Amino acid sequence: MVTKEQILQWLQTFATVVEENKDYLTELDAAIGDADHGINMERGFKKVITQLPTVADKDIGSILKMVSMTLISTVGGASGPLYGTLFLRASTVVADKQELSEQDMLAMLQAGLDGVVGRGKAQLGDKTMVDALSPAVTAFGQAVTAGENMLSAMQKAVAAAEKGMQDTTPMQAKKGRASYLGERSVGHQDPGATSVYLMLQSLLDVI
Ligand code: ADP
Ligand code: MG
Ligand code: MG
Repeated sequence: MVTKEQILQWLQTFATVVEENKDYLTELDAAIGDADHGINMERGFKKVITQLPTVADKDIGSILKMVSMTLISTVGGASGPLYGTLFLRASTVVADKQELSEQDMLAMLQAGLDGVVGRGKAQLGDKTMVDALSPAVTAFGQAVTAGENMLSAMQKAVAAAEKGMQDTTPMQAKKGRASYLGERSVGHQDPGATSVYLMLQSLLDVI
């Protein structure tokens, strides 16, 4: 089980990790985008943290919905609406819950992925967030189906996200700003895939 307290800790942890990796994410985006991914994520999650006390006594769905609304209203660009949709769709499948089973977590991750794909239309191999998130959801689902517990399944998910993130380096971007570079996008790790990996690693840390 993952408790509501752990979800709150996750958001705190990820906000700190984003702050620590602000320059790194921005440097990755400088190579193939407009050098603002770290800035965008830091702005969004700093605001999320200031809003956390307003939802601390609510259910997990309400907490994730607040995250979504805050990201959509404070983060511009591609990542704001995409992360906003991820958290919005995730929030709807865990509405009213105070804790999450392995099945709940799988449903939440799957809904978040479906939201990102529905909104951004990226496929695997397009060099986006999806290249880290999709393998992570697949690995988590396989582990849960095999009867593994939350910790073990999340370890597999994070390993898959890390590999997915690394695999974006040789890809040519097909979506987002990086796609404007064509072949010149090859050879650089995708910033959004990197922040997704950090988000899942932060979740593993609190589990
Ligand atoms: P912007 O590109 O508007 O400046 P960010 O720099 O914050 O926004 O985020 C860039 C990241 O957004 C990319 O590295 C990529 O992972 C992700 N991204 C861009 N377009 C899409 C899309 N259509 N689907 C999924 N992810 C996308
Ligand atoms: Mg950018
Ligand atoms: Mg931008």
